Amino acid sequence: MGVEKTKVLLPEQIKEAAELLAQGEVVAFPTETVYGLGANALNPEAVGRIFTAKGRPQDNPLILHCSGVEQVEPFTLEIPSAARLLMEHFWPGPLTLVLKKTGAVPLVVTAGLDTVAVRVPDHPVALSLLQEVNFPIAAPSANLSGRPSPTRAEHVLQDLGGRIAAVVDGGETGWGVESTVLDCTVQPFRVLRPGGVTVEELQQLVDVTWDAIQELEAPRSPGMKYEHYAPNAEVFLVTGPGAAPKILELSEPLLADGQKVGVMTWEERAELYPALTVLPMGRAGDLSSLAHKLYHLLRAADQLGLQVLFVEGVDEDHLGLAIMNRLRKAAKGRVISAGGEEEA
Ligand code: AMP
Ligand code: MG
Repeated sequence: MGVEKTKVLLPEQIKEAAELLAQGEVVAFPTETVYGLGANALNPEAVGRIFTAKGRPQDNPLILHCSGVEQVEPFTLEIPSAARLLMEHFWPGPLTLVLKKTGAVPLVVTAGLDTVAVRVPDHPVALSLLQEVNFPIAAPSANLSGRPSPTRAEHVLQDLGGRIAAVVDGGETGWGVESTVLDCTVQPFRVLRPGGVTVEELQQLVDVTWDAIQELEAPRSPGMKYEHYAPNAEVFLVTGPGAAPKILELSEPLLADGQKVGVMTWEERAELYPALTVLPMGRAGDLSSLAHKLYHLLRAADQLGLQVLFVEGVDEDHLGLAIMNRLRKAAKGRVISAGGEEEA
C-alpha cells in the first residue's frame, strides 16, 4: 500500500488521475454502475495492488474496461457474431462479456483463467480516463472485499481511504448495481451475474440462459462464491405477500431485547412499521430507484448502528433479478418466505 493519504480529485483533474495510473498506482473512479478501483491492466504489479487494497481473493478475476470495441480486439481470441451484436447494442453500458483471451492479458487480471471479461463503461469520467491513458483499465468495484459496492466517492473513502492513491469524485453513480456478466464462450450464452442490462433485454437479441438454482448451488462466476454486499447488521430478506406481519413478528423479541432494528421497504409501506427504523426504497415498484440507492441503504444501516435489518423482497424479473441477487448475498442465505394474506 504505502499510501499516506487518498487524494480526492475532481473530474477536471482527470489528467492527474491518468498520470497516477500510468505510474502503476490504483485510482477509484465513477462508472455508470458503481465506483471502480482501476489499475493499468497491462502492468501486473499495478493490478496486484487492487487485490491488496481490497483484500480481494486472488482467484476472483477482474473486468477489463476498454474505450471501445477496437481496444477489446487485441485481448480477445475471437468475438462471436452474436457477441458483436450485443456490443453494438449495449456498449457503452452495463454489460460485461466473457470471451476467450489472448496472451496480451496478464494472468493476474483473469486469475489464471483462459477467458477475459470486457466492457465499455458509459460514464463521461470513466471514458475520458480511458481515452487519456493508452491502456485498458482492470477494475473491480471500489469497496473492501465483502462490503456493499460504492455508489458515492464517500463510500470509497469509508472503505479504502489511506489504502489507494486517489478517488475521482464524479458524484453519485447512475445504475447503482453492477454490470450484467455474460459468458459468451458457451452456447447458448449464459448469464453469470444479473445486472444493469436485464435478461429480458438480452433475450430480445440473442438466446441466453440464466439458471437461478445453479447460481445458488454452484457459482459459475469465480467471484460469486465469496461473501458480498454485506453490512455489519444481520440482514434478513423476507419475501411474499405476508412479509410485513412476518417482519413485525420477528422484530418483537429483538426490540424487547433492546436491539436496534431496521426495515427496508417502499415509502408507501413505511407506516406499517412504527417501531422500526425505516430505510425507504423509493416509490412502490420503482426498481431503478431502488437499484440506485440499494448499496447506500445497506451502508446507511451501519451508520445508523442497526443490529438487524429486515428487507422486503421484490419480484425477480427485469431489474428486480439483479436487486434480489445482491440482497440474497447481503442476507448470507437468511431468506424467509412469508405467504399469507396481503396486509396492505
Ligand atoms: P466485481 O468484483 O464487482 O468487479 O465483479 C466482477 C465479476 O466478474 C466477478 O463476479 C468476477 O468473478 C466476474 N468475472 C471476471 N472475469 C471473469 C471471467 N473471465 N470469467 C467469469 N467471470 C468473470
Ligand atoms: Mg465487487
